[in-house]
Amino acid sequence: MGFREVVGQDRAKALLQNALTAHRVAHAYLFAGPAGSGRREMAGAFAQALFCERGGNDACGECLECRKVMHGNHPDLHIISPDGATVKIEQIRTLQRELAYRSVGAGYKVYIIEAAETMTVQASNSLLKFLEEPPSPVVAILLAPSAQAVLPTILSRSQLVSFVPGDREALENALVQEGKSPLLARAAVNLASGLHSSRKLVEENWFADIRNVVIQLGKENPTRFTASLLQAQQQVFKTDLSEHVEILLQLLALWYRDMIYAMTDRQAQMVFPDQAEWISKQAWSRSIQSWVAVMESALTAARRIKAHVAPQLALEQFLVNVREG
Ligand SMILES: [Zn+2]
Repeated sequence: MGFREVVGQDRAKALLQNALTAHRVAHAYLFAGPAGSGRREMAGAFAQALFCERGGNDACGECLECRKVMHGNHPDLHIISPDGATVKIEQIRTLQRELAYRSVGAGYKVYIIEAAETMTVQASNSLLKFLEEPPSPVVAILLAPSAQAVLPTILSRSQLVSFVPGDREALENALVQEGKSPLLARAAVNLASGLHSSRKLVEENWFADIRNVVIQLGKENPTRFTASLLQAQQQVFKTDLSEHVEILLQLLALWYRDMIYAMTDRQAQMVFPDQAEWISKQAWSRSIQSWVAVMESALTAARRIKAHVAPQLALEQFLVNVREG
């Protein structure tokens, strides 16, 4: 954790660190930027720096306060995420009650509202009063895809911190510098958002296996459909990999995107550069539109798993679509 862990976003980082240095921390911040731009990591780093016993403009990572944040059990750090599709007024009321108690220490209380754009109107209005008269010293950090995604009244009471789209190359380089496999790092930064979650993915012992299965499935399909179904059965559903079919499908979509990259002379961006030769030969067997359709079909299957369709069913239907596509 700490600002060191946030890759890129130098302007946002400087704004927050200057506020810490000058002891001019605002009551409320709106972190506006697309998913994967590191908003959540930055919010964690900022909160940790606010709590850190050593003060300064970055967390020390060693003191008791820092360790509580890193272990996810700091009593004065509250994280609100949507309950179902929206952040509801009950959640804001509960938060307000919790913040009304005196702080355990004398320091800050911090709350982070993830997907603040999903706040219901009632929740927004309830939060608004709170932003106007915050029980000092409370710091609110709202995360949203853009400044326009929240009510103007919320925006006007927050300091806007803009995030640029995530820099995958910087993330990848950071992981490789840590000694991670370049091929796994490339795949992870295309699947996860931010350094922390990309690193977590690379460190999962099943991730390299999933990548290998994707290469095999990608190569079998669509010419040997029966073989690929059999392979899916054996390699995925009879092993621990069955818990990770969603990632498998997302990675498979990237395999098909590599086909398009091969056809459009963007080999340098491939997620499977070690397979570039095979991919470049096979890519022309279909049109770009057809690869786009297959890619979308893989992503649809992944979303269906998220919506609780049985993974085996979702994968098999996808394989049928690929053959027919
Ligand atoms: Zn510390």
